Amino acid sequence: MATIDAGRMLEDLYEAREIGKYKTGVHRPTFSADDVKARHWLEQRLTEAGLDASIDGIGNVYGRDPRPGRKLLTGSHIETQNHAGWLDGILGVVYGLETARALGRGIDVVAFADEEGHFTSFVGSRSFCGTFSEQDIDACANRETGQSLRDALRQAGFSNRPRQTVDTARYRGYLEAHIEQGSDLEDQHLRLGVVTGIVGSKRYRIVFDGQQNHAGTTRMSARKDAGVALVKFLASVEETFPKIAGPRTVWTTGDIKLAPGAPSIVPGRAELIFQWRDTDQAILERLDEAFHALLVESNKGPCTATVAYHSVTMPAIMDPALQSALTASAQKHASGLHQAMPSGAGHDAQIVSQVMPSAMLFIPSIGGISHHWSENTSDEDIVLGCRVFADAAESILATA
Ligand SMILES: [Zn+2]
Repeated sequence: MATIDAGRMLEDLYEAREIGKYKTGVHRPTFSADDVKARHWLEQRLTEAGLDASIDGIGNVYGRDPRPGRKLLTGSHIETQNHAGWLDGILGVVYGLETARALGRGIDVVAFADEEGHFTSFVGSRSFCGTFSEQDIDACANRETGQSLRDALRQAGFSNRPRQTVDTARYRGYLEAHIEQGSDLEDQHLRLGVVTGIVGSKRYRIVFDGQQNHAGTTRMSARKDAGVALVKFLASVEETFPKIAGPRTVWTTGDIKLAPGAPSIVPGRAELIFQWRDTDQAILERLDEAFHALLVESNKGPCTATVAYHSVTMPAIMDPALQSALTASAQKHASGLHQAMPSGAGHDAQIVSQVMPSAMLFIPSIGGISHHWSENTSDEDIVLGCRVFADAAESILATA
């Protein structure tokens, strides 16, 4: 059985926490000076662990086991959201590092660049999987500073390097550990989650067109109030969705705008942004049909509702055999204290799962807090998670 060195693993996490430290968290946006420093720190750690380590042309830090035989890819990301937590991302990378050291062979470790989307989402994992083109790089700029991705890569010193892409024949699969970023585990007094799938989503921007008019002189019967049409439509969605949604489906009205938005003017135009998420594609589609039927109903009124924007992400199903290995290991180390669960947040595993079998392990987030500097997990849970991860990795490699 793999024996991890819990103290060494925690020391690595503590050390990384000092790079870009902010209160009890970390501020390490993609390709900032501290992020680049963290990438070099990791490259050094991977080298010390006996891996062939390098940073490629998109900023991915990649450590490869030079010994023969099929490998298991492990990892996550190491940049953070602004003023965010000390475990989001790096936990999965350090688990991979410790597992490589504990097993002594068969483990590759990767830290994918910009999972957090300072430029655009999943830059590193998409590049690694061959779905991020040179044109995609040209099209990206930092959402806050406007700096182009090309310029950021040049400034980081990575721009003249080749980009590494995955050799799928090399791998048995991909294993990623991550903090839960919700309170499901804590609420149920559980210590581990084995991820069944990562949610897909549908997102719409709907525009309602009516007739802008004087709020004092326009009789109610004569109005074409776009705001009223929007509110009635949303009420019909809120009535219908609970009847046809799955147990874990979530939906959100993220924004509403009325135009011109004045106290004495009947709104002539209204807009909403609405999204829903689930791991089950059939449920996503069922809600989509209902959503469109309700739009048709809405259009029987005095205003016109049209779809102005529509985007879709597909759910990613985690590999059953890799899930079983994680579950067996969780049962061995924490009998009855684990559950199968979906991930409501996006992770690199949803990209990697498109090219090879992938699975994820969650550990609890105290108070469910993440993307905030106060994000935390107990050392006991961090150590338990690493034990379960390393054991599962060993058993997966035994069947490779
Ligand atoms: Zn993350």
